[in-house]
Amino acid sequence: MADELPGEEISLWVKTTGRTSYPSLGEDTKHYDVVVVGGGITGIVAAYRLAQSGREVALIERERIVEWTTGGTTAKLSSQHYLIYSHLIDRHGEALARAFADANQDGIDAIERLAADLPIECEFSRRSSYVFSRDSASVEAFEREVEAARRLGLPAQFETSTELPFEVRAVVRFDDQAQFHPRKFLLKLAEEFVRGGGVIFEHTNATTIVPGEPNTVFTDRGSLTGDVVVQASGEPFWRNEILDGRMWMKMSYALAVELEDRAEYPDGMYITTDEPMRSIRSAACDGGPVLIFGGESHEYEEGSFDPDPHYRALIEDVRARFEVRSVHCRWLAGDFMPYDRIPFIGPDPEHPSIYLATGYRAWGLAWAMSAAEGIRGYVDGAPADWIEHFSLERLEAPLRDEDRVRGIPNSGVEMRAQGD
Ligand SMILES: Cc1cc2nc3c(=O)[nH]c(=O)nc-3n(C[C@H](O)[C@H](O)[C@H](O)COP(=O)(O)OP(=O)(O)OC[C@H]3O[C@@H](n4cnc5c(N)ncnc54)[C@H](O)[C@@H]3O)c2cc1C
Repeated sequence: MADELPGEEISLWVKTTGRTSYPSLGEDTKHYDVVVVGGGITGIVAAYRLAQSGREVALIERERIVEWTTGGTTAKLSSQHYLIYSHLIDRHGEALARAFADANQDGIDAIERLAADLPIECEFSRRSSYVFSRDSASVEAFEREVEAARRLGLPAQFETSTELPFEVRAVVRFDDQAQFHPRKFLLKLAEEFVRGGGVIFEHTNATTIVPGEPNTVFTDRGSLTGDVVVQASGEPFWRNEILDGRMWMKMSYALAVELEDRAEYPDGMYITTDEPMRSIRSAACDGGPVLIFGGESHEYEEGSFDPDPHYRALIEDVRARFEVRSVHCRWLAGDFMPYDRIPFIGPDPEHPSIYLATGYRAWGLAWAMSAAEGIRGYVDGAPADWIEHFSLERLEAPLRDEDRVRGIPNSGVEMRAQGD
């Protein structure tokens, strides 16, 4: 029999915050201006923003808020999504690439601003973000990415070394990115939302929407109506067939470990384009530092899903690369990966008072801030120009075969068994 896995199975963010206990829906048939479904970063920020602009808003969450993907992230805030900008410019043009870059840069600033204004102590700190490869064949693609990113105004540099305790051959550094504690930020934002008159229902699973004026959202606990509905549930629970063949779900795993040598905790935030994918950053836990070490991504398949070997591979690898004293905790989560590598943000093409924001390709934290703001713009009748690049209207045309790909563009591994 295999040895028991070390560490508690719980995300670092859940482990270091209190649990929420909002009521479930009950027999509420009340009408709201806006019903938001999903209590991750997209839903909470959208609910907060829409309430701030004077609307009566209810948020429904099927489990507890900020426990699924947003509660299981590695919580880097970055416009650096592996290598993406050279690909976006080539494939979709400079205007879309610029909108993509700006939305993510703005998303980081939005968290910083909100955390300062409210204020929220959420371990937000500005850091550099690095994508690296240990393969010298990557140099050209990395240089191309720097050129593309700089053309879009992003703070990119090419380098050939890092502070990590192993050799690398190619590095793209983005300055002035950030990391934070997602639950410390979002649980407080949810409290502010409720203090301002917003309502949260936990343990309430939305099952369908009957569109109309108003829309009716049915749940396993009753129904409520909303002039506007925001599907912030990751995978849409209503009309999800419109995304059939457009995105897939990637599972990823992470550990928080204590190192023997404090000098080994990196200041920067790291990810590699090499196989196996690894994501690395430092964080705090119980008053001391920990290293977050993530990766092992793969497509989610219901019948054969077995996290055990992935946890084991991560633990073995972190021990090979760092002097590990102990494994504090381990966790997993899934995120939605659009084949064309562009998120879906905007109104449903047939029912424009029902909005969707998903498909962040495992980089959704900065994205969600801008998506929430973008949805508020739509609801206020003044959609921002940038958002049209990410609208659901593109679903009306079939996905081009050349866009039905996985992997990290320009990494030399376009079709990868492990996903990107
Ligand atoms: C391991 C891992 C590491 C990551 N690291 C990073 C990172 O460093 N930086 C970054 O930017 N991104 C990262 N991501 C991606 C990022 O975490 C996600 O893109 C983001 O959290 C998605 O937020 P969301 O609000 O859209 O979805 P979620 O957080 O999944 O929220 C959706 C919520 O809706 C609820 N829900 C679903 N269906 C229903 C229903 N029918 N009724 C009611 N509620 C429902 C769910 O329970 C859930 O709470 C990572 C992802 C993973 C998996």
